[in-house]
Amino acid sequence: MPQLTIALTKGRILKETLPLLASAGIEPLEDIAASRKLTFETSSPDVRLLILRGSDVPTYVEFGAADVGVSGKDTLIEHGDSAFYEPLDLKISRCRLMTAGIVGKSLPAGRIRVATKYTNLAKRYYAGKGRQVDLIKLYGAMELAPLMSLADEIVDIVDTGNTLKANGLEARDTIAEISSRLIVNKASMKMKHQQIEALIDAISAAVKEREEAA
Ligand code: AMP
Repeated sequence: MPQLTIALTKGRILKETLPLLASAGIEPLEDIAASRKLTFETSSPDVRLLILRGSDVPTYVEFGAADVGVSGKDTLIEHGDSAFYEPLDLKISRCRLMTAGIVGKSLPAGRIRVATKYTNLAKRYYAGKGRQVDLIKLYGAMELAPLMSLADEIVDIVDTGNTLKANGLEARDTIAEISSRLIVNKASMKMKHQQIEALIDAISAAVKEREEAA
């Protein structure tokens, strides 16, 4: 069997991905959380895991440095999702990508300022609504931007809405429903077809089982 490299997103997505991989017979040989290593051998001798920052997973898969990846749909939309296949919705790490602003404060007429880490995605969204925007790229704590008058609106992911509420913000429009997806490099899908198809089938069964148990 050829070596199969799977790129995973560290953090909350990783925690939910590992049980799905385990049910496909793939378990890291050491505790990922307790290690500073970035690559891990697994119980399946031909499968290796890479632990990456979420926004780097699509890049590794697009260029074939990883055959398969797991990444949030928000990250895939932002990256541009035609550079790889996306055969499976893992239905984990679900949240919504939304616009938000200060409670009760309506948007000014004309050009508005929008703070987000999803600048490509936000650009397309507001263009689609015919809104002129100045985009401000931030790397975290988007909720602070409207409070400090840095932006009129933010585009961010919302789960419970508690973070928005705690900062005096309200969710406005839903741009997309988000969950984590399995993505596959286009050449790998051809060259390692049997191996990848077996992986997709096993994980797909685990996703179904998890949904039925919920
Ligand atoms: P919440 O207060 O539950 O709405 O969560 C808000 C914050 O948690 C967001 O600003 C995100 O940074 C983060 N978050 C929530 N859900 C997810 C997810 N599925 N993936 C990544 N980050 C998330």
